[in-house]
Amino acid sequence: MRLVLIYIISHMPTLPHATGARHAEPTHSSPEAVTVDPKQQPSSNSTKVISYGGGVQSTALLVLAARGEIDFHTFLFANVGDDSEHPATLAYIRKIAFPYAVRAGIEVHELKRRRRDGTTETLMQSLNRPDTRSIPIPVRMPNGAPGRRNCTADFKIKVIGRWLRNHGATTDHPAVVGIGISLDEIHRANRRRREPHELIEYPLLDLGLRRSDCERVITDAGLPVPPKSSCFFCPFRTVDAWRHQRKYEPELFSLSVQLEETINKRRATLGRDAVYLTRYGRPLAQAIPGDDLTGSTIDEADGSCDSGWCMT
Ligand code: SF4
Repeated sequence: MRLVLIYIISHMPTLPHATGARHAEPTHSSPEAVTVDPKQQPSSNSTKVISYGGGVQSTALLVLAARGEIDFHTFLFANVGDDSEHPATLAYIRKIAFPYAVRAGIEVHELKRRRRDGTTETLMQSLNRPDTRSIPIPVRMPNGAPGRRNCTADFKIKVIGRWLRNHGATTDHPAVVGIGISLDEIHRANRRRREPHELIEYPLLDLGLRRSDCERVITDAGLPVPPKSSCFFCPFRTVDAWRHQRKYEPELFSLSVQLEETINKRRATLGRDAVYLTRYGRPLAQAIPGDDLTGSTIDEADGSCDSGWCMT
């Protein structure tokens, strides 16, 4: 099988027509070589969707699509659960982004994970299942390193992949999935992480747009800039984001503490070490003490969630 090398950065044209875009200088990250099967190329009638996460980057894609500046007309939001997504993200999607999309004639679909028996399950429900031994989220080991995770694959990648299969995508006739990674987060781009019947594109990289450009695209459209999107208990949250949660979202912080305790009670019965939601190797309420709430801004994710399927 003949394989073709693609260099993500060297194949990144800056298109002059991106409204409101300030074209950035290319970054000097090493080009990442990935291989693709040349038979797996999109055709003119391939299904094209954006994986919409409700964050800044994918909302900028929504505006660019509404303006006809990118060739995507369908946006798929894989909702990991109303009890798991940050409530502010859900409010933004339902009150601002989806109505804007509908007004612009963009098709939007909210998708949920379905089990084999057809019932839906949220990420929070899956984490609280009493009989489960695995932990799908990237909980941190006592040394701070994140563990393996299945949450992104099970609750986002497979959910979108299933919708695409049900809408005709096959390995021979793959669909195109656009992911909202901006130029300043190029390290998160990984074209290999996909289902076999999908081809991944990064429209913001192709347009040379940074996060700040995305914010401008959104505000130029008259929309508020969305909050950072991720599960409110995601172990990839920064320490500052946890401090922010403890100070300004105490109900969510209590739920995060409760979740960490539930996971560790179950692990104790299995004779396993405790794991944590922060990198400090201590329970959340101790790791983020209530009297240390300095620097309470929300940072970018620490880069560990490198797939681009979450937090965009
Ligand atoms: S935001 Fe974090 S916890 Fe939620 S699906 Fe993504 S990686 Fe998993």
